[in-house]
Amino acid sequence: MSRLTNSGQLWLYRSKPQDDELLSSWLVRLASGLAIKLQTFCTQILGLHSGYWTGDIDRHPSLLALSRLSEGTAVPLDRVKATSLGALEGRLWERYQSGGPMEWLTPLGSLGRRRAMHGQQYCRQCLESDAQPYFRRRWRLAFNVACERHGAFLEDACPHCHGPVEFHTGDFGRRLLDFDCPITRCGACNADFRQWRSSADRKAPSDLLIFQSSLNEALQQGHHSRLPGAESYSHLFFMGLRHLVRNVCSRGRFSRVREWLLSRQGLLNFEFEEQPRWQKFEALRVGDRALILDLVSQLIQDWPHAFVRACQESKVSSSYILSYGAELPFWLSSEIDWHLYDRDYAPTPAERAAVERYLLNHGLAVSRNSINRWLGVASVSKLLHAPARRDRWNPRGAKRTRDHN
Ligand SMILES: [Zn+2]
Ligand SMILES: [Zn+2]
Repeated sequence: MSRLTNSGQLWLYRSKPQDDELLSSWLVRLASGLAIKLQTFCTQILGLHSGYWTGDIDRHPSLLALSRLSEGTAVPLDRVKATSLGALEGRLWERYQSGGPMEWLTPLGSLGRRRAMHGQQYCRQCLESDAQPYFRRRWRLAFNVACERHGAFLEDACPHCHGPVEFHTGDFGRRLLDFDCPITRCGACNADFRQWRSSADRKAPSDLLIFQSSLNEALQQGHHSRLPGAESYSHLFFMGLRHLVRNVCSRGRFSRVREWLLSRQGLLNFEFEEQPRWQKFEALRVGDRALILDLVSQLIQDWPHAFVRACQESKVSSSYILSYGAELPFWLSSEIDWHLYDRDYAPTPAERAAVERYLLNHGLAVSRNSINRWLGVASVSKLLHAPARRDRWNPRGAKRTRDHN
């Protein structure tokens, strides 16, 4: 063991992280290659505490462990850090939080060292064709529901026991280690994730694959010329997209938009089970997320025309989409304000102040009524008030009886 624990010494087996490999996947492969148990590797060589695997290690990597990995494998520390989910800061979110739920990250629902939720996804065909099978970081992102390489939906359960995917528990409770890396075997039932079943490799619709591919391009480049709001910073697009996702999942007024989109495809509306609001979407199974993403992609198309049409046809105005306390990027809020605002015109205090200055400068009478008259919004009589109203495209409440005398 000393050859491994000496600081600054290269390990005999030092496989590099593969393209887009998750930290946890790399750790499992390294431990297997060094012919030691994963738990021993993490505690005695990387210096991690014994409860390390009870958390989501791809979300909260230890800096000390990352530098030990860098020293032992001769992989630059920046590349080592890039295996964690937090490395997407600045592209997927403006700021990453190592604690608590994060938008777009699928939860694992840790239950001791085991998993209670289906947040770990994989592509069966990718694992099958890999020379050294490994789990990709993008399989932990909620908007990835299919494999762009194989055109099939991702799997989010063991093909045999249908439990959550656990690729890190293959050597738990075993006295002897297998020669092969256990990463493709379910830690609960020992079935191989690569085994084919009749329900496997379901083809994903091409439109959905194209949309998902553009999201991954934005994430990789940090910007995207064809996605609204992503011209400079991709995280602004993802922020707005997540707001649309939340609305499409909602049980409130915006569910009318979901109903309208589904009805165009001859499908009935449905309701989601009550789940914590913050990660309703991320906690869904892959098939449900695929359906939501497909609906949202229809709203993003030809931005903002399809979105505006869907909202207006469904009678959903801005007040139902804008929520208090939720910060929205300009690319989304500006279109909501411009196209979906359905209130009578109400001047801002700055507009009132500007009119007051104008009247004073020109020696005209300044009063509440005179300012209102200049702004054309109200007057002392209902007769003058009425013309200031505009036709409402989405009237609410009892019908006005404007014409009664
Ligand atoms: Zn694949
Ligand atoms: Zn299983």
